[in-house]
Amino acid sequence: MNRNQFLKSLGFSGLFVSLFPLKSFLSIQNRYTKNQLIGKGNPDIIGNAYTSKMQKDTKVAFQKMKNEAAKEGINIEVVSAYRSFEKQKQIFENKYRQFILEGLSPSEAITKIIEYSTIPGTSRHHWGTDIDIIDANFPRPESVLEEEHYYGDGPYCKLKEWLNEHSEKHGFYEVYTNNPSRKGFKYEPWHFSYKPISKPMLQEYKNLNLIKIFQEENILGNEYFTSEFIQKYRNQNILDINPELL
Ligand SMILES: [Zn+2]
Repeated sequence: MNRNQFLKSLGFSGLFVSLFPLKSFLSIQNRYTKNQLIGKGNPDIIGNAYTSKMQKDTKVAFQKMKNEAAKEGINIEVVSAYRSFEKQKQIFENKYRQFILEGLSPSEAITKIIEYSTIPGTSRHHWGTDIDIIDANFPRPESVLEEEHYYGDGPYCKLKEWLNEHSEKHGFYEVYTNNPSRKGFKYEPWHFSYKPISKPMLQEYKNLNLIKIFQEENILGNEYFTSEFIQKYRNQNILDINPELL
């Protein structure tokens, strides 16, 4: 049976077949699995180390951008790239335990964690398309990812200026911008996303049922994730980002 006969046997007319070739018909199906979207296994991730694991196309584009920046004396170094669900779970739960020990209530602890950190299953780092970067030409400050390092006399000023001008033509966009009306995660001048892959991933991510995922994954503190909280987190922390990436 050839393709047309096969489609006709399913009830598709010849007109449908010519208007919607099989390829485009298939492309409206999901391209990414739920596990890929929540950091639980992704065949497109390459690299061995925590700072070198990336989605394969992202890695090629990143290497190109790094080489271009090197010509201007900037040594782009990744401090965080692909992060698995399990790793994010550890980060989240360690912070949760620590804040509870410090006397915060569970909801206060969760509110404080999500200023900068994500709930496992919701990190853009799960996709391998997002990276946190610094300039390795400067000695590392005690805490590297601080806004002040990227402005004024900060060590990563030159890197930031270069990125402002060049990153987008390499496909990399700032995610958590300094737009004062943006809600959700605070400004992160170090966090960039490879739009050609992360934008379609976000489109599919939006169809996931977060309430169900949080229940299934047994995350510490998840009994305090009310449906109202999850709705707000989705709208602000996941979707209130640079509009170029939506
Ligand atoms: Zn990041």
